[in-house]
Amino acid sequence: MSDQHQSRFSDRHIGPDASAVSTMLEVIGVASLDELAAKALPAGILDALSSGGVAPGLEGLPAPATEEESLAELRALADSNTTAVSMIGQGYFDTFTPAVLRRNILENPAWYTAYTPYQPEISQGRLEVLLNFQTMVSDLTALEVANASMLDEGTAAAEAMTLMHRATKSKANRLLVDTDVYAQTAAVLATRAEPLGIEIVTADLRQGLPEGEFFGVIVQLPGASGRVVDWASLVSDSHERGALVAVGADLLALTVITPPGEIGADVAFGTSQRFGVPMGFGGPHAGYLAVHAKHARQLPGRLVGVSVDADGAPAYRLALQTREQHIRRDKATSNICTAQVLLAVMAAMYASYHGAQGLTAIARRVHGHASAIAGALGDALVHDKYFDTVLARVPGRADAVVAAAKAKGINLWRVDADHVSVSCDEATTDAHVAAVVEAFGVSAAEPVSAGIVTRTSDFLTHPAFNKYRTETEMMRYLRALADKDIALDRSMIPLGSCTMKLNAAAEMEPITWPEFGRQHPFAPASDNPGLRQLIADLQDWLTGITGYDQISLQPNAGSQGEYAGLLAIKAYHVSRGDTDRDLCLIPSSAHGTNAASAALAGMRVVVVACRENGDVDLDDLRTKIAEHADRVAALMITYPSTHGVYEHDVADICAAVHDVGGQVYVDGANLNALVGLARPGRFGGDVSHLNLHKTFCIPHGGGGPGVGPVAVRSHLAPFLPGHPLADELPDEHTVSSAPYGSASILPITWAYIRMMGAEGLRAATLTAIASANYVARRLDEYYPVLYTGENGMVAHECILDLRGITKATGVTVDDVAKRLADYGFHAPTMSFPVAGTLMVEPTESESLAEVDAFCDAMIAIRAEIDRVGSGEWSVDDNPLRGAPHTAECLLVTDWDHPYTREQAAYPLGKGFRPKVWPPVRRIDGAYGDRNLVCSCPPVEAFA
Ligand SMILES: *Cc1c(COP(=O)(O)O)cnc(C)c1O
Repeated sequence: MSDQHQSRFSDRHIGPDASAVSTMLEVIGVASLDELAAKALPAGILDALSSGGVAPGLEGLPAPATEEESLAELRALADSNTTAVSMIGQGYFDTFTPAVLRRNILENPAWYTAYTPYQPEISQGRLEVLLNFQTMVSDLTALEVANASMLDEGTAAAEAMTLMHRATKSKANRLLVDTDVYAQTAAVLATRAEPLGIEIVTADLRQGLPEGEFFGVIVQLPGASGRVVDWASLVSDSHERGALVAVGADLLALTVITPPGEIGADVAFGTSQRFGVPMGFGGPHAGYLAVHAKHARQLPGRLVGVSVDADGAPAYRLALQTREQHIRRDKATSNICTAQVLLAVMAAMYASYHGAQGLTAIARRVHGHASAIAGALGDALVHDKYFDTVLARVPGRADAVVAAAKAKGINLWRVDADHVSVSCDEATTDAHVAAVVEAFGVSAAEPVSAGIVTRTSDFLTHPAFNKYRTETEMMRYLRALADKDIALDRSMIPLGSCTMKLNAAAEMEPITWPEFGRQHPFAPASDNPGLRQLIADLQDWLTGITGYDQISLQPNAGSQGEYAGLLAIKAYHVSRGDTDRDLCLIPSSAHGTNAASAALAGMRVVVVACRENGDVDLDDLRTKIAEHADRVAALMITYPSTHGVYEHDVADICAAVHDVGGQVYVDGANLNALVGLARPGRFGGDVSHLNLHKTFCIPHGGGGPGVGPVAVRSHLAPFLPGHPLADELPDEHTVSSAPYGSASILPITWAYIRMMGAEGLRAATLTAIASANYVARRLDEYYPVLYTGENGMVAHECILDLRGITKATGVTVDDVAKRLADYGFHAPTMSFPVAGTLMVEPTESESLAEVDAFCDAMIAIRAEIDRVGSGEWSVDDNPLRGAPHTAECLLVTDWDHPYTREQAAYPLGKGFRPKVWPPVRRIDGAYGDRNLVCSCPPVEAFA
């Protein structure tokens, strides 16, 4: 029970206090938050509170805990886990996170609260590190172009498969996969291949290529069994047969083994987990994907490139496929949106801190420990070429060996009744080696040489990997980079659809606890009862909140939740013999991932029009439903809509789809407008994904990690994601490498719900709606609010229409977005879902003072626009077009612009708010796309 004098967490999380809320309500013109909800939401879906004053679905939540109580409960859960020495391997290795990186990145809000760098001028810090990440991957794999991270190794393999399918000239639809890839990689590949009509043929490729035509070949280095195979001739044979080759490669091994690019491979994929990122029961980690230069334009996900700013200085920004799903939709290369930026930053900095020599030394030590075990195994050793993992033949004794090691606190990997594998990593010691040798019942012997050290080429020669080897240098590098960016530690980030709310320190603290961090995802269940309890609690709470019956936490981003949900729908139809349903109805306003996910799930997209007022056009929907009745698999609808309104017809829309046998997918990215008020599982949805990195406080990390659980009503439950290596789950529909996806960040959401309680969660939703409506009222006369619901209300965000302003004055959304940086703010979402508009989502966490300051800045910008409109300033030379302004561009003797330097830098005076100095001026995106540079440029470029 909370003492009176202890503050409620909800009062810390929710920005506006009671008096601020009444100020907002007065401006909106309603008497209470409940009246606001009644006016904004359709009566048919708004849940009435129980007699006890609790929102339906939230009755199961315990009374809100204080920060201390929540941390104590999490501590107890952590303490019930056993932190064994993990020698399981299979894609997850123990690693030491340098304390300087843990403290200054993982525990530093300047890094973890940033958003995807869509505003590159105020994101140069993280863009630089992502470029380092790309350079690191490119160097280690010896392939020219690497992207800025994938969700995990399994999905990276799946992206490699579809990339090869797109890029090859071969007409074949068969993919050849070596038997020695990780079980979870094979499972994700199988899931992804099926709906695309790709046939997977599994074979032991050491014997060479089987008969038949293949568009691609996937092998792993080292293999799951630890063996290291020289794949050079397989690559050339494959090329001769018209197939491309992708190699799943371990980045640490590549410091000593000939890299995929040097044997002619077209693609490399894998994970950067063992570069300083804890195993965390499976994630999050940054997967990687690298390709030969000729396939650069086929790369999915985000690619950071170098361009120039308005003064010709080099500057970083996202290249090519920026927001590609929003443009190409069902033609997009992939549905990946949120990726793994924070973990890519960690891995890149780990490489900078250790450098090529340090990484090679770690690799040699790891290999040395493996060699010692191999030597002791003698004849029991199965493969004589290995890097870190040795496979032992122990006829009939596998269980006994595993148990003997377990008795010494070490987890080994039981391959089958006759084989055990042992993986060494950075944390392996001589004592561990001795204990393992004893567990096998053999005695130490001379280490054997595996003869795998074959790499001769240099890597990580750029200064970025050589200058920051002392802690002082690293600490300052991290600080200097963070200072270039606007994250939530400097300003509100009013990005519509992204829900940039508080990520509380008390929610974040447990994620770095070793009891969570050092859990291997395939460790015995008896090692991690605490994590399993935490997962069960979350499943319980989230199904209650959403009104669904079951939920899977496996998808590691919203896009993956969408995909898993659509697969469940498809499998459900097929299970009923309804095999022709392959159409997915998607409103034109939908997020681009919706269409991309439908295409990946093997569905054809039928676009449903929107009416003038932004709502789904019911007539068009009914026409399309009638036209395709027997083919309709699903409707994907976002609620409240991406237009930021609660559509009043939602129940009718869902019913119309159900009437013809279709299923309703409610995109739950906007759940921050529903928690405690309405439940998609009760107002018509059959399935939804949630974005825990939006509504439930997992920080965006500069563009990931995320968690995108998929929640379903009971009839879809049998088709939720399973995993081949988790006994409690079915084997099929695996969408991520780990059974519970990004499990190590689930304590954040757990703590948020635990500390808010039913009342706090509902209050958060109501406050978010109030804040958005307040912004809409304050700004409408300056920038017309594009869409409102029936009583003139918006939901938790609002779209400001600049198209008329642009037409009249020439000032664009870009100009306004960049100008906001001069005022010290991050821009709202630009041109989504409507081109030429800005979408503002203040969230409940921002105080009225901060929201007012943002509105003041927007209003002041409107006055600047009017001076352009009146002809006082020319459209090509004004503080908007000149934005953002760096200190350097203002510190000049000859200033020949029609506005003053003070107007440029301090438009609302020096007292307005702390000055943010953008490090670069406006970046020329097109230049960078024409002159693609995606790894660290030589230092001279910055001279
Ligand atoms: C953010 C978002 C998504 C995609 O989620 P990711 O986690 O980025 O993959 C899908 N739909 C909507 C409406 C969103 O806002």
